[in-house]
Amino acid sequence: MVEKRIAIIGAGPGGLAAAMLLARRGFQVHVFEKAPVIGGRNAEVVLGDYRFDLGPTFLMMKFLLDELFEETGRSSNSYLDFRLLDPMYQLNFCDKTMLARSRPDDMKAEIEKAFPGEGRNLDKFLSAESKRFEKLYPCLQKPYGTLASLLSSTLLAAVPHISAGRSLHDVLSKYFNAEELRLAFTFQSKYLGMSPWDCPGLFTMIPYTEHAHGVYHVQGGLCRISEAFAKVAREEGALIHTSAPVKRVIVKGRKACGVELESGEKFDCDDVVINADFGYAMSHLFDEGVIRRYNPQAMKKKRFSCSTFMMYLGVDRTFDTQHHSIVFAEDYKKNLEDISLRKVTSNDISVYIRNSAVTDPTSAPAGHSALYILVPVPNNSSGIRWSEEKHAYRARVLQILQQRTEFRDLEKHIRTELIITPEDWESGKSVFMGATFNMGHGWNQMLYMRPHNEFEEVGNTYLVGGGTHPGSGLPTIFESARISSNLICQKYDVDYPRPKPFKEMKIA
Ligand SMILES: Cc1cc2nc3c(=O)[nH]c(=O)nc-3n(C[C@H](O)[C@H](O)[C@H](O)COP(=O)(O)OP(=O)(O)OC[C@H]3O[C@@H](n4cnc5c(N)ncnc54)[C@H](O)[C@@H]3O)c2cc1C
Repeated sequence: MVEKRIAIIGAGPGGLAAAMLLARRGFQVHVFEKAPVIGGRNAEVVLGDYRFDLGPTFLMMKFLLDELFEETGRSSNSYLDFRLLDPMYQLNFCDKTMLARSRPDDMKAEIEKAFPGEGRNLDKFLSAESKRFEKLYPCLQKPYGTLASLLSSTLLAAVPHISAGRSLHDVLSKYFNAEELRLAFTFQSKYLGMSPWDCPGLFTMIPYTEHAHGVYHVQGGLCRISEAFAKVAREEGALIHTSAPVKRVIVKGRKACGVELESGEKFDCDDVVINADFGYAMSHLFDEGVIRRYNPQAMKKKRFSCSTFMMYLGVDRTFDTQHHSIVFAEDYKKNLEDISLRKVTSNDISVYIRNSAVTDPTSAPAGHSALYILVPVPNNSSGIRWSEEKHAYRARVLQILQQRTEFRDLEKHIRTELIITPEDWESGKSVFMGATFNMGHGWNQMLYMRPHNEFEEVGNTYLVGGGTHPGSGLPTIFESARISSNLICQKYDVDYPRPKPFKEMKIA
């Protein structure tokens, strides 16, 4: 046992992954979670007999999750029941549909069917992007807390592969000719809450890893991942306190030395790990004057991701669809500009639907479906009054689904539902500006320019989760937990397993 106490604020996937790793390495770990349940945005939503994921539904780079479990001496398969999805998803364009298949040969055939003559371009994409992935992946495993870290050999080796100054859409345009096919390989920037025309070109890593390494579902929902982290953390001695909101981080001489709960209870510790949404933490968890670089005024000037309008529908029939489907707006570029530049809602919107019952019988009773619907919308800097708009917006989403997908008579089969708007993300889930995918991932908000894993403003404080390096998807959140846990181990001279180079990863 290491005689050091760590307080982790928040039981989202980032906080729980850190709890698991640090407890395994012998630290005394206490997680304080504001909500009555664990998981944060990766929690479960239960509506009667229907079960949904609140947030993440696509698991990519599963090999990284496997590695985290291996570090604790366990196998992820003992805790989680994975399904490799094939098809990965269906894409609905205005005048055609295309399946994204998980094996390159099948994918090539699908491309040929929808976009004759373009199938062979997949080979060019996969072969060029595999080299980029290999160079960039090690950059995800390291902290960038000092200017000198920008000159590290890992980053210097990656520089020729970052496509500086080019957007994701620019980079993809060199592989594929048809605009819709380019969208099929660039819409993934929405996972970061960004548009392919703004998103830095290096994020071709995301469509590449989908096509090279697959997209997974976990039976019971991706929420089981956070639950599995919590289980391991507890097995290793961590204590997880739910309904335990932290009021503030106690700071003495610019170093954290404890946390004070809303109940008034104080908890002394050696280090604090913040998993609460970064923007929210900066504006709520420190006494006035403590935070300088990221004070509430400065935060308003940062670029944040879009938000999401969510509908969770318990439906009394089944639908013969893919597990994941995406319906593109008729004018997708304008749709994205409405979201991030003009910050307005419009009638021409893109919609993502997850019909988990086709893969996972635990999500709904037999003959029923649990539909998860996500619509990217502006974050709360838009001033949209969702409490007034939500009913009309719901009607528009259902109209699109009924007109353009297999969900034709959906509305009359809805038995139960929950809607979450950007206002709800902010007020109910403590997500700053309702920006569900955190701070944006533009060049000026990455690496050293992103809030550091070892927090630069307050000593003894570490960040994990989507607001810090490397970024806001599940795999990068897991990696943030590992980076911060490794930094804490380095500080106390505690041994820890070194992250494996990409070439040594076991990829199924
Ligand atoms: C709708 C949606 C869909 C997404 N889809 C995907 C996807 O398909 N694939 C993917 O890889 N990623 C996806 N993401 C992104 C990302 O994986 C999730 O948002 C992820 O859950 C974020 O994890 P986190 O650890 O950063 O923070 P969170 O999950 O937000 O956890 C933070 C925790 O801190 C707690 N907290 C806040 N304040 C306090 C306080 N004062 N005291 C105590 N606790 C506090 C919160 O209650 C919460 O539990 C999605 C996100 C959303 C919102």
